[in-house]
Amino acid sequence: MKITVVGAGYVGLVTGACLAEMGNHVVCLDVDPRKIEMLQRGEIPIHEPGLDKVVQRNAAAGRLSFTTDMQAAVAHGTLQFIGVGTPPDEDGSADLQYVLAAARNIGRHMTDYKVIVDKSTVPVGTADKVRAAVADELKARGVDLAFAVVSNPEFLKEGAAVDDFMRPDRVVVGSDDERATLLMRAVYAPFMRNKDKLQVMDVRSAEFTKYAANAMLATRISFMNELSRLAERVGADIEAVRRGIGADPRIGTHFLYAGTGYGGSCFPKDVKALVRTGREYGVELQVLQSVEDANERQKSVLVDKVKARFGDDLTGRTFAIWGLAFKPNTDDMREAPSRVIIDALLEAGAKVQAYDPVAREEAQRVLTGRAGLAFAADPHAALEGADALLIVTEWGEFRNPDFDGIKAALKQPVIFDGRNLYDPALVASFGLDYLSIGRPAVT
Ligand code: NAD
Repeated sequence: MKITVVGAGYVGLVTGACLAEMGNHVVCLDVDPRKIEMLQRGEIPIHEPGLDKVVQRNAAAGRLSFTTDMQAAVAHGTLQFIGVGTPPDEDGSADLQYVLAAARNIGRHMTDYKVIVDKSTVPVGTADKVRAAVADELKARGVDLAFAVVSNPEFLKEGAAVDDFMRPDRVVVGSDDERATLLMRAVYAPFMRNKDKLQVMDVRSAEFTKYAANAMLATRISFMNELSRLAERVGADIEAVRRGIGADPRIGTHFLYAGTGYGGSCFPKDVKALVRTGREYGVELQVLQSVEDANERQKSVLVDKVKARFGDDLTGRTFAIWGLAFKPNTDDMREAPSRVIIDALLEAGAKVQAYDPVAREEAQRVLTGRAGLAFAADPHAALEGADALLIVTEWGEFRNPDFDGIKAALKQPVIFDGRNLYDPALVASFGLDYLSIGRPAVT
């Protein structure tokens, strides 16, 4: 099948590469010439495990190409997947300018039947706006061409995106057009050969499903974060509580980890956007508003612990930070809790020495110009001369560190762990103080 993917970011590039892997001929279009030039040279602009091989293999086989040429890209695919960004607007609603620009572009250049597939996360009713944008362009050109708009929200996780796309839990397709549904079935059939995981529903329900999924996951995190604050006060261990409740299949084990608050490009903006949609329709989503409030509060929990130990004025102090990306296995720094933590430490007068296995370059870009912030080349270098260590992202390489080395490098033997990576008794046995989330402090 001939497929065009509009937007070559985390979602678009993974979608394009994985669809090419199944024999489709895919053209990825992006408005960012730097990104497209990198991809044409075989370089991957983002960190996503396994993606480089899939991209390179399919580009070499002639099934995957990259362009900034809008007309050529629209001409190529019968299916036009839109995977452009939908960042939050000032009022929290999803900014649809990129989605609608992509839609207008398709309307401007199409010369035959197209299925326009909305993969970006967009509020309920967006498919109607996409349809209207395409129809307006066709009208302006004085042509009458058939097209369908379907919703196909993406559920992949950054850090495991290729695997998620290749082996989806489910694929949601919102469609009221029979021919478009048939084509979507054909596109996804190779990814579900053993079990049909395609859920076809009406367009609005599909759009809603994506927000509902992210809102539920964010709710679980905020719920546990809130309970972790109480656990600390009452002398309970949130990790024991997590295991205790997670064993109940009605609750399950996923997304129950207390930490420094959720970040990334999806949960914060999608929760805000759903709250905003609720307001637009006169439905106050109180639970989700609290989920967001609790998350904001949680981002300061680690710095609160630092200040409780070192005082509010951190002038003259230096802190090592391990982990900058919003989660492991990605270089994505969008809404990463590390950004809030670093700014709060710098604001209080401290210096920061930060280390991340892959997000360093991206962190340098988004945290540019901050006096007192330095980036270390390895975890140990970040510790040199630091008063204490803060762990912000649970990268695998932090899970079994050299505790003796940490103790020797730090001026004060204390770890503030925002991810509950270690057994407190083990850390204590190395003579380190250990303050984690929702567990009794070991000092
Ligand atoms: P991204 O910022 O990584 O990529 C978006 C790309 O679109 C950029 O490269 C940008 O240059 C390009 N673009 C913008 N306007 C364009 C246009 N008119 N024509 C062509 N290209 C254009 O974003 P992302 O993280 O891939 O997210 C894309 C969408 O998918 C969002 O709606 C997001 O909520 C959703 N989503 C993201 C994830 C994730 O984990 N990142 C998961 C599921 C869903």
